[in-house]
Amino acid sequence: MRIDLHTHTRASDGTQTSEELVRAAKAAGLDVLGLTDHDTAEAWGPAARTAQEVGIALVRGMEISTRHLGRGVHLLAYLPDPTYAPLVAHLRKILDGRSSRVPAIVERLQGVGIEIDTADVRRAAGGTAATGRPHIADALVALGVVPDRTTAFREYLNPGRPAYVNRYAAPLVESMRVVDEAGGVTVLAHPWGRHGADSLPVDAIAELAGLGLAGLEVDHQDHRPEDRQRLREIAESLSLVVTGSSDHHGLGKHDHELGCNTTAPDQYERLLDLAAAASARSGRDTPEVIG
Ligand SMILES: [Zn+2]
Ligand SMILES: [Zn+2]
Repeated sequence: MRIDLHTHTRASDGTQTSEELVRAAKAAGLDVLGLTDHDTAEAWGPAARTAQEVGIALVRGMEISTRHLGRGVHLLAYLPDPTYAPLVAHLRKILDGRSSRVPAIVERLQGVGIEIDTADVRRAAGGTAATGRPHIADALVALGVVPDRTTAFREYLNPGRPAYVNRYAAPLVESMRVVDEAGGVTVLAHPWGRHGADSLPVDAIAELAGLGLAGLEVDHQDHRPEDRQRLREIAESLSLVVTGSSDHHGLGKHDHELGCNTTAPDQYERLLDLAAAASARSGRDTPEVIG
């Protein structure tokens, strides 16, 4: 059984529609696909229909942009009730913060002599719910300023570069609580992705485990082999579920092909058990796994 629990569509910063993503997952030989756009459940409906049609299990989720201990932390949330009002408001606040950052970044790019305006970004975003830096990067590519997204981030958009603007990110612990109330389960996405073990110390992970965190995404392209090994040991010592995922973005990210990392079936079963328990506790009408 091949299980990939972290992917993106055009509803956030992937390049595929949800139909294209689900069909690509089937074609790639996956049995279970996790759909986790940034801060939105927008793609859930069409993805569910396609999953039923092609015969693949679909786990509906999202990747929430949070902050913890002064750093950005991505929180995967699986199977929450997407209509739970506090969750809806929580995501709205994050999405609004991201969209309002776009004009500020565009202004900074203009300040360093690049001819770009917000219409270029809107065009690159193609009507997505979550306009953000990846779409500004796409606009810079379309305008011929840089050859690809990676260069756009490295030269202009990353922290410390001329067009970087900080933005609202929800507190991590509050995000975990809202997802729990919505009947979903949470997994830390690529916890050591950017800065290795400095990103999130072990005692911080232990504290989050005590607050109800369900798992760690251990197998991710941004983790070096030695970090994966260490994270696996940490997860085991804290009884956290270990997941592995591609973090696929279509053509939006290189070296993140569907199924390049996968989750072991027994870990997947544990995650579903925890989701069922969270759902029962919440009393919410949570989504089932399709298929
Ligand atoms: Zn992420
Ligand atoms: Zn992601």
